Amino acid sequence: MRKKQQRLAAQRARAQYRDSCGRFASARYRSVRVDEKTYKIPIDDKIESGSIVIVGATREQEQKVRRYIKYGFTKSEIRAATKEEPMLIAVADLEDAAGGYDPKNRMIVIDPDYVDAPMTTVHETVHYIKHNGGDKHRGPVTRTHINARDTPAEHNLEEASTTAEAVARCAPLAYQTPSYYGALRSRCTAEEMLRQDRRLFVGSDGRGLKGKRAIDAVEKKFDNSEIAKLQAYGARENARDHSRTLRR
Ligand SMILES: [Zn+2]
Repeated sequence: MRKKQQRLAAQRARAQYRDSCGRFASARYRSVRVDEKTYKIPIDDKIESGSIVIVGATREQEQKVRRYIKYGFTKSEIRAATKEEPMLIAVADLEDAAGGYDPKNRMIVIDPDYVDAPMTTVHETVHYIKHNGGDKHRGPVTRTHINARDTPAEHNLEEASTTAEAVARCAPLAYQTPSYYGALRSRCTAEEMLRQDRRLFVGSDGRGLKGKRAIDAVEKKFDNSEIAKLQAYGARENARDHSRTLRR
């Protein structure tokens, strides 16, 4: 890891607080918001070298998370997203979510129960690289909508397009979570719709796509996907209709 990255990571991890005796001490935690809830994540582990820093994980959990990221993303995508500071990922208990990305604190949290689900790690990493990696190659569907996430339509599109990209990148790894497919109203099961989208983006037995290929597949085929029908967060139109208004 570059020196500057190390210094920035250390600064972020160490906030000053007063201990029970009133002395200033170093607080090795960071507050993170996931689904409107705030969590205090201890950052006791020493900041390891590399562009991805994982805290709160056992060795085995850490290896899994790193393996999924290596599977789903190119080195240059990770490099572009970690130019300023390392990608910080915590494995920590979440109340109602499998994972989350807090754009303000630029931190990913994965619930330990979902460390075995590649879709969770890849989904949150897609949010991260969209938000931090720049919009090169990205069109109106796949670019980050986080900066405008206060509007329900943009929030909904951010989740639908991130899910689509995670499906394209994860194929053919096992999908243990219904992800946002569970929120679609349909006669098909979440798993059936997820497999249908995987065929659409990647083909029946293709390896997962990375980099520009993953982005292009979602940008071109999103309108025909099941996940484009997502209409959550009080959005007045589904993700497909909203992305069409952005492309006009
Ligand atoms: Zn998400």
